[in-house]
Amino acid sequence: MRPWEANIRRVTPYTPGEQPNAPDMVKLNTNENPYPPAPGVQRALCGMDAGALRLYPDPAAKELVRAIADFHGLEEDQVFVGVGSDDVLAMSFLAFFNSGKPILFPDVTYSFYDVWAGLLGIPFVCPALDDHFRIRKEDYRGKNGGIVFPNPNAPTGVELPLKDVEDIVAANPDVVVIVDEAYVDFGGTSALPLLKKYDNLLVVQTFSKSRSMAGMRIGFACGNPVLIRYLNDVKYSFNSYTMNRAAIASGVAAMEDREYFEETCQKIIRTREWAKEELAALGFQFADSRTNFIFATHPKCPARELFQALKQANIYVRYFSKPRIDNYLRITIGTREQMEKLFSFLKEYLREHFYL
Ligand code: PMP
Repeated sequence: MRPWEANIRRVTPYTPGEQPNAPDMVKLNTNENPYPPAPGVQRALCGMDAGALRLYPDPAAKELVRAIADFHGLEEDQVFVGVGSDDVLAMSFLAFFNSGKPILFPDVTYSFYDVWAGLLGIPFVCPALDDHFRIRKEDYRGKNGGIVFPNPNAPTGVELPLKDVEDIVAANPDVVVIVDEAYVDFGGTSALPLLKKYDNLLVVQTFSKSRSMAGMRIGFACGNPVLIRYLNDVKYSFNSYTMNRAAIASGVAAMEDREYFEETCQKIIRTREWAKEELAALGFQFADSRTNFIFATHPKCPARELFQALKQANIYVRYFSKPRIDNYLRITIGTREQMEKLFSFLKEYLREHFYL
């Protein structure tokens, strides 16, 4: 060990999904949207003046905040924007989970939560999902330093009914409850209407999935103006100019095209419902997903083996080598054509290896 290594902050980082780049691959591993962003996004980017890049962007990204507030029928002071919802969530952990008491999130959930908690020295407890991968709301009461969970949950795809979300928020008036709605637009029910009743609720969403803009890195949080002010205080203590000019301009264009957004989400929902039938016909089991992915297991064929076989065939899905979920594959919903390629491979593989 070098002498200076004793002073290093040591962390176990998050492992993002692979980003392979083969020409004929079928990429169903990181829950990206298979369709392009709204046409206005292309126009906004083409219309950008490179000369303007010598100037800093608006630190408050007001135009983007306004577009998001308008879309959701909120006031501008209820909206915070960041570099993807990862940035928004990281800033929220830093701002709101500061009591020294353990925060709560499910044992099977987005695997960045324990990384931020580790980085920031926030203690945490992880109540177990039930055998059907459902969050048990009774586990989220009593003394704690805050609560965060995705709804629908990832990587399970399972949604907690809004009534139960409300019960959790109502049972915890002394702490901030963060509902991470990265996947809510694919048929889930948003907790945004609860903002009228609860000042301790923060709802986080992203442009990465339902708005096809993972590459632009835009996420946002909605909450009581006081919460949002605290969040901005932390952001301005870290990095004032988080949203660059391209992100602001293209984000506004994406938010303004409600019709394209709804149409794209509907296409994915239709493909998902058909994919459920195909998977079931091949013997897969899965909880009912309200997201743009399906978390599936096969009673005969081990998930790890199938993951490797799919990869050999240039079909990428996500596999997590973790307790409780190491026999599952998370399959992002792609286009109908991409899913057909997946299913024809699966059919052949399962038959050839006597799993069918
Ligand atoms: N929350 C959940 C539950 C996710 O699955 C993801 C995607 N990895 C994110 C947040 C972050 O997405 P982004 O930073 O692209 O908005």
